[in-house]
Amino acid sequence: MCGIVGYTGKQRAAPLILEGLKRLEYRGYDSAGIAVPAADGFHVTKKIGRVANLEVETNRHKVAGNYGIGHTRWATHGGVTQENAHPHVSSDGAIVLIHNGVIENYTSIKKFLLGRGYTFKSETDTEALCNLIAYHYAKEPKAAADGESRLLESVRKTLLHVEGTYGIVVMGIDTPGELVCARKGSPLILGIGDGENLVASDVAAIVSRTQNVVYLKDGELARHTPASFSLSTVNEGDIKAVIDQVTWSIADAELGTHAHFMEKEIFEQPTALENTMRGRFSEDGSTAQFGGLNLSAAEFRQIDRFMFCACGTAWHACLVTEHLIERFARVPVEVDYASEFRYRNAPLHSNTLFFVMSQSGETIDTLAALREAKRKGYRVLAVNNVVGSTIAREADGGIYQHVGPEVGVASTKAFTSQLLIGAMMALYIGRMRDMSFSDGAAYVNALKAAPNLVREVLKQAPAIRKIAERFAQYSDMLFLGRLSLFPIALEGALKLKEISYIHAEGYPAAEMKHGPIALISEQCPSVFLVTKGEMFAKVVSSMQEVKARKGLIIAICTEGLELPAGLADELITIPDCDEAVLPIVATIPVQLLSYYIAVIRECDVDKPRNLAKSVTVE
Ligand code: GLU
Repeated sequence: MCGIVGYTGKQRAAPLILEGLKRLEYRGYDSAGIAVPAADGFHVTKKIGRVANLEVETNRHKVAGNYGIGHTRWATHGGVTQENAHPHVSSDGAIVLIHNGVIENYTSIKKFLLGRGYTFKSETDTEALCNLIAYHYAKEPKAAADGESRLLESVRKTLLHVEGTYGIVVMGIDTPGELVCARKGSPLILGIGDGENLVASDVAAIVSRTQNVVYLKDGELARHTPASFSLSTVNEGDIKAVIDQVTWSIADAELGTHAHFMEKEIFEQPTALENTMRGRFSEDGSTAQFGGLNLSAAEFRQIDRFMFCACGTAWHACLVTEHLIERFARVPVEVDYASEFRYRNAPLHSNTLFFVMSQSGETIDTLAALREAKRKGYRVLAVNNVVGSTIAREADGGIYQHVGPEVGVASTKAFTSQLLIGAMMALYIGRMRDMSFSDGAAYVNALKAAPNLVREVLKQAPAIRKIAERFAQYSDMLFLGRLSLFPIALEGALKLKEISYIHAEGYPAAEMKHGPIALISEQCPSVFLVTKGEMFAKVVSSMQEVKARKGLIIAICTEGLELPAGLADELITIPDCDEAVLPIVATIPVQLLSYYIAVIRECDVDKPRNLAKSVTVE
């Protein structure tokens, strides 16, 4: 999970590393640390909590040095303490390292090293890796032959004995200006600059200095000096690097006038949806088209079942997609948690097309599900937002979301863009089957209306804030919806609990009477997503059942639906819209409601406790 930044060049490294860490803080914020060279080894500064704490300390010491590494931690092994914070220095003082991931065989490595005089200060798995590199570094000849890097060779030898996942950046005491990076399962991106080189776990930390990047692949090692970089693999020699261009600029990852990234990203949704749709409708305006599926229409036509795997918010987007594909394309869809699918050895129908969804494209469980499906011989397509991410590279094809960087830990614009892609897939598949030209054209027009409908709902932000003021102090809340709005109820509950720490649950409205109704009282309000059509009367009945038990009700309801007088204590009206875009439009009020409730409760909206943005550990 954690954020990693490394720099080598002509500038003072510490301020650049701190700036990068601030941009990555959403990846982990238990502790932060930085290491730069000092006259007698390394100058390492670590602080529990936010990068701001580290910055105060680093500035106090006016840390010099033209190369260095920095880390924000999301603890997996060992508590949130200064000792456990990264960077870790080997007990002989020769190696300093930052690590993202989990070293699974760290206990046996530790045992081996304890027997050889190495000592340990932290409870982390990482320190075992650090000392093992030091062990090999001590054995490597100081003057390596043919310009071979002593540091690189010792990292390579170490990695042959390591099980687990890692993104690491390493510095050695006798190898000034040199950074060695390696990855397996945790993202690392090299930034190739002019007289300087960088490395980070996310382009956000690099893009202010260079837009030329190399996405490191699993099993690859990189060696940076200020003037050069080289790539090799753990098992073999040098390989050629492909330099990619980052398409967004630093302004895209800045807060601007907004109080939080979550607010910024909620309000960016109309533009984000436009960007997701751009160029993705056929010329005749009757269907969707996707450039990167790598599957002909004829091949797609053979598919008679879809399997979607994802985690968290993206899993909710998959549930909506299931509803829309089954409804409009009449093809069966199954949705599974990626973390469950990878272990439960589910039998899959032979003509199944496998999809994974992940904003970051790095979610480890989703990646593992993708690999499991590929191992079984299935073609896997990916929906994700980050170009060059591991999932994007390993999938057989896919659809990029194109919504720009999402920094807020609670996903907003990435979620609605996934909903839109799900709706477009339902259209694409539907038009290959029984959906007529005119139905397809009407569907396209409905999707094109989504950004403006979202703009309309966003205008109600001040009114939703007032409702939030009334409900901010409750400790429980239910979210209820039906059909395609049931996953939006799940999403509303997830948003509320993750950023405001209010216990919240999402249910299909009719399920309430099978259990959750026991929670209803004056102390437990309910948010109802009111569905039009044949479900309207049924949802109203569920609301009546809540009212009869003195439960307060916030109703999110499309224009033109008439609720019985007095049934809703608060009413949020959303524009009447097509079924395909209703989940998108209905999401906006639940996002705003949870955002304002968290703000009123003075929660750290963009960095909720215990969470991190892209979950790269199992
Ligand atoms: N496993 C390491 C630790 O607990 C790294 C965690 C991370 O990725 O931040 O320190």
